[in-house]
Amino acid sequence: MRQENIKNLTLEELEGALRDMGEPKYRGRQIFKWIYEKGPEDFNSMTNLPKALADELSRRFTLNSFQGVEKHLSADGTIKLVFKLDDNKYVETVIISSGRRSTICISTQVGCRFGCVFCASGMDGFQRDLTTAEMLDQILYAKFCLNQNLTNYVFMGMGEPLDNYDNLIRAIKVMNHEDGLEIGARRITISTCGIIPAIKKLKTINTQINLSISLHAGTNKLRDKIMPINKTYSLNPLIDAVNDYAKASNRIITIEYILIKSLNDSIADANALTGISRKLRAKVNIIPYSPVPGVSLSPPLKKAVEKFVNRLTESGVNVTIRISKGKDINAACGQLAGKRDEI
Ligand code: SF4
Repeated sequence: MRQENIKNLTLEELEGALRDMGEPKYRGRQIFKWIYEKGPEDFNSMTNLPKALADELSRRFTLNSFQGVEKHLSADGTIKLVFKLDDNKYVETVIISSGRRSTICISTQVGCRFGCVFCASGMDGFQRDLTTAEMLDQILYAKFCLNQNLTNYVFMGMGEPLDNYDNLIRAIKVMNHEDGLEIGARRITISTCGIIPAIKKLKTINTQINLSISLHAGTNKLRDKIMPINKTYSLNPLIDAVNDYAKASNRIITIEYILIKSLNDSIADANALTGISRKLRAKVNIIPYSPVPGVSLSPPLKKAVEKFVNRLTESGVNVTIRISKGKDINAACGQLAGKRDEI
């Protein structure tokens, strides 16, 4: 029998599983709390449990999603973690620190089915969704094995988070829970290429999670060309869905825009982006493109970045230039590909 990772279970499910094992209800909460407060590596280290129960839990469940971890440190302090999963696939997690802020960029899938032309994660297509436990274990590894004091949690690593909606929401519930990781919704961000039905669904769960839209083009013509998802979910309905989410969540939307030389960096492109930013009352992050091996796109010229950003600023858009960190270890935006050699 293949053991299930206990972190795939919500508190209610864990209580149910313990009840089925003949244990009192409080046991579920006790175990849940211990897992997320102390990050145990095995059930026998849970000293608040009777030994017989710890042994039984070890027979039924596992506590670890990864076979191995490799750590890469960038000259700018960015950390990239490459995790080897149980089925020998790889995912990557990035931790970016700046001042008192420490942001973890969490992966949600191995590969990605959406094939944006500038992105390494989608180059080999979709392989599989990550489980809830595999998402949570990226955070737990950073917290307990690297002693990182994380302040922000962004689902912006490999894969499209809203394409793995159920596992994502389960992970967020555990992150949010007062007996789980106790992370406020406002410190969590989901980044999406624009899956409208999932954005509508997210609105119904009544949350204050931040939503970030990977836009990268301000017209359907260009977006169709560089982000194939746009052929299914085009700009106008996307803007409507995002606006509805912004109103329901009372959060400011972020637009991510990777600036690529001679592709989306003209003044006309800046004007199109301005129009959308205004409709969404969104803040805009401009991210100069970081080269991806095998992709024939180039970073924008410094002058083009300045002109582009000036045009947005003149139009009253709240814009920030985000210089991607971790380029020397292929950890920058769009560069996460998953490792292919053995750890
Ligand atoms: S940008 Fe996001 S949606 Fe597009 S291919 Fe990369 S991971 Fe997938």
